Amino acid sequence: MTAQPAAAAARATVYGYPRQGPNRELKKAIEGYWKGRITADVLQQTAAELRRSNWQQLADAGAHELPTGDFSYYDHVLDTSVMVGAVPQRHREAVHADALDGYFAMARGTQDVAPLEMTKWFDTNYHYLVPELGPDTVFTADSTKQVTEFKEALALGHSARPVLVGPVTYLLLAKPAPGVAADFEPLTLLDRLLPVYAEVLADLRAGGAEWVQLDEPALVQDRTPAELNAAARTYRDLGALTDRPKLLVASYFDRLGDALTVLAKAPVEGLALDFTDAAAANLEDLAAAGGLPGKRLVAGVVNGRNIWINDYEKSLATLATLLGLADRVDVAASCSLLHVPLDTAAERDIEPQVLRWLAFARQKTAEIVTLAKALAQGTGAVTTEIAANRADLASRSGSPLTRDPAVRTRAAAITDADGRRSQPYEERAAAQRAHLGLPLLPTTTIGSFPQTDELRTARADLRAGRIDAAGYEERIKAEIQEVIAFQEKTGLDVLVHGEAERNDMVQYFAEQLTGYLATQHGWVQSYGTRYVRPPVLAGDISRPAPMTVRWTTYAQSLTERPVKGMLTGPVTMLAWSFVRDDQPLGDTARQVALALRDEVNDLEAAGTSVIQVDEPALRETLPLRAADHAAYLAWATESFRLTTGGVRPDTQIHTHMCYAEFGDIVQAIDDLDADVISLEAARSHMQVARELAEHGYPREAGPGVYDIHSPRVPSTEEAAALLRKGLKAIPAERLWVNPDCGLKTRGWSETKASLENLVAAARTVRGEL
Ligand code: GLN
Ligand code: ZN
Repeated sequence: MTAQPAAAAARATVYGYPRQGPNRELKKAIEGYWKGRITADVLQQTAAELRRSNWQQLADAGAHELPTGDFSYYDHVLDTSVMVGAVPQRHREAVHADALDGYFAMARGTQDVAPLEMTKWFDTNYHYLVPELGPDTVFTADSTKQVTEFKEALALGHSARPVLVGPVTYLLLAKPAPGVAADFEPLTLLDRLLPVYAEVLADLRAGGAEWVQLDEPALVQDRTPAELNAAARTYRDLGALTDRPKLLVASYFDRLGDALTVLAKAPVEGLALDFTDAAAANLEDLAAAGGLPGKRLVAGVVNGRNIWINDYEKSLATLATLLGLADRVDVAASCSLLHVPLDTAAERDIEPQVLRWLAFARQKTAEIVTLAKALAQGTGAVTTEIAANRADLASRSGSPLTRDPAVRTRAAAITDADGRRSQPYEERAAAQRAHLGLPLLPTTTIGSFPQTDELRTARADLRAGRIDAAGYEERIKAEIQEVIAFQEKTGLDVLVHGEAERNDMVQYFAEQLTGYLATQHGWVQSYGTRYVRPPVLAGDISRPAPMTVRWTTYAQSLTERPVKGMLTGPVTMLAWSFVRDDQPLGDTARQVALALRDEVNDLEAAGTSVIQVDEPALRETLPLRAADHAAYLAWATESFRLTTGGVRPDTQIHTHMCYAEFGDIVQAIDDLDADVISLEAARSHMQVARELAEHGYPREAGPGVYDIHSPRVPSTEEAAALLRKGLKAIPAERLWVNPDCGLKTRGWSETKASLENLVAAARTVRGEL
């Protein structure tokens, strides 16, 4: 590669860093505070120490400009609500009494008040707390957190840049407060919100901030002309302020599209754009828009949300193009590093060669620094790094882990017929009715039964070697016996084995599939103090041996009633893992589907007549822009059909999804060609049943009649009333009776009472038919 013209003083920066600390110190401190084991002072000291060490880590790696304000006790959107004074009425008393406890009351609720609603941050697995706004909302500025943390970094000698959620994104992520009309649009509050942002910006300027970053990821979604106008107005107004720092408006996760021109024209000093594959169009769009003359461009060329090493030559080529398009080009990760684990150096169980393919937050920072150095001094300054990177990429693409000829040959031979059941639905349904002999309104559950402390202890004992595999098997079998006996006694029609052996519905399968990696310390924040360790789809996927068959057949051996086999579907396996970046998602999904297909076929061969393939993630993985939906849904539904397409007509395929609003994917649900679907519906009073009916959904469905999200036991009459509602939309021949979701988070006592009532409700309503 030839040396690039040097860009004077290209800087390396990031927008945010993992908050938890190397040993999840933050989680432990916060939970300790909740339990009263440590004081607020100790919690605050722990937090300050974690911020200090994060900044030090970034500075030691050579980052030039560090983020501040990205730290959070719970969630940065909640922090923004506090910053603008948007505290819901029901939380005011708590906030007034004590700011920290009030903050946690908003996040988690108390005995007396419900928390803010939580939802996914764009298409990541991070969840934020949804601001609640209404026509009466009064915003007031409180820049304490932002100013304090910025000054903390300054005092430690760092060059820093506060990072805030931008006003447009903040409003677009909000929802009408309880009691406010559902069609209230929070964006109408923009004029009230902007003066508050102006005040915060002035405070940060007074505190010494040269630059402030405003994150506007909501602008990478499809936006109406009115919304784009709001963005234009926002940055015209904020740009026109006299007492303000320089503004860097950041976007990530997808291309900016029409919003790019809006922001390029705005009187702000810089834009930060995502240039990874997911947002590749930004490059052309930026060139077409004439670049950013006079502005600073921060180029997100290192993927901030996957765990793979960067391709330096590719990034340097992108950066070289960008040099011609802006006044100054700096290097960054595409988004906050919040979405990746901290440090690969903590991993002991991953082969050293494979570990070199992985980059967590710390490694990504080093990559950014290397790329900035190449930009500033020419590639000659980083020849060693570039050579090592090329060697690591070559080792990855040439590895038998990523290229398994058997898997590839099989995937290449897939035909349309593999993804098609041998008979159309109506004929299958008749065969299944004859084969299964179920009553009208058959009852079932979604799969898991309570995960008790005993089960968790058994798993811990196995891991620690206190019991052997045989001892573990005994404990699981004992649990299965109990679960089956309970279901028989209660009178459920289609039984489950209870999933006692599963730690997690994705990890359980990942551990048994070749090509998947597990990490020991790869924690990422899901929400608040909940951290998850997503497994890594690292190579070609195959199934060396059956994964669930022995548990299901054991359960079936205990009863005459059908026991439903239980699998996690390919889309959900991808959605809750780190995915490969070296092949299209659809290719990875197809490989996972083939492995699951073998499991489905083995279950059938072992005598399982009902098999459920869960896809709770089908909707949440929907791309951010509507133009990309069809391509996603095509591979998503295809991989489900490939998983389930190989069974006999009289084997009944179920699927399950847990969300109440799915209007925009009913067609995709239909395209799965499952025989039965169970869905969340209890809280929305059977809304989904009506949506299915409107769509003309032809198959059997079980809209949930028992809300499993709380310990509350639904009465027989309540469940029966929901069933009667369901019958208005779905005829009795096609209606199932089941809870909203699995029972693993519930206790046994409420589970027993609720399922007894559910069966009683089914009997009552059957009697009315
Ligand atoms: N079968 C799983 C269970 O019952 C489904 C879980 C889910 O939908 N998230 O736990
Ligand atoms: Zn569910």
